[in-house]
Amino acid sequence: MLLIHCPYCEEDRPELEFRHAGEAHIARPVLNGPDAGKAVAESLYLRTNNRGIVFERWRHIHGCGRFFNAVRHSVTDKFLAFYKAGEPRPEIEGADRHDLGLQLFGAGANKATAPLEGAKSGGEVSGL
Ligand code: ZN
Repeated sequence: MLLIHCPYCEEDRPELEFRHAGEAHIARPVLNGPDAGKAVAESLYLRTNNRGIVFERWRHIHGCGRFFNAVRHSVTDKFLAFYKAGEPRPEIEGADRHDLGLQLFGAGANKATAPLEGAKSGGEVSGL
């Protein structure tokens, strides 16, 4: 069971108290020009769905009921940061890479994990 830290309640609680609410930091499109409809559709339905470090919205539905953001590694399910809604995206090493950031957790050495293009294999735990 995952333990999730609610930044409003300021305590770790079991994941059963929370509900995943999708990707964080989705910007509303500018509604002018001929591609406004396409921009709206993309903002509603297209998500990055990264394998690796993801920025997500969560809601403490069986607690304070508030939305907050979390940074999680989608492969290892480890949370890297929790922050209140409206706060800027924290700087996370490797968050913009699409090679999974597995080196942060030492999981890149797993032979069952096929490296993606540009990914380093057999990575060492570093940074944290
Ligand atoms: Zn809470």
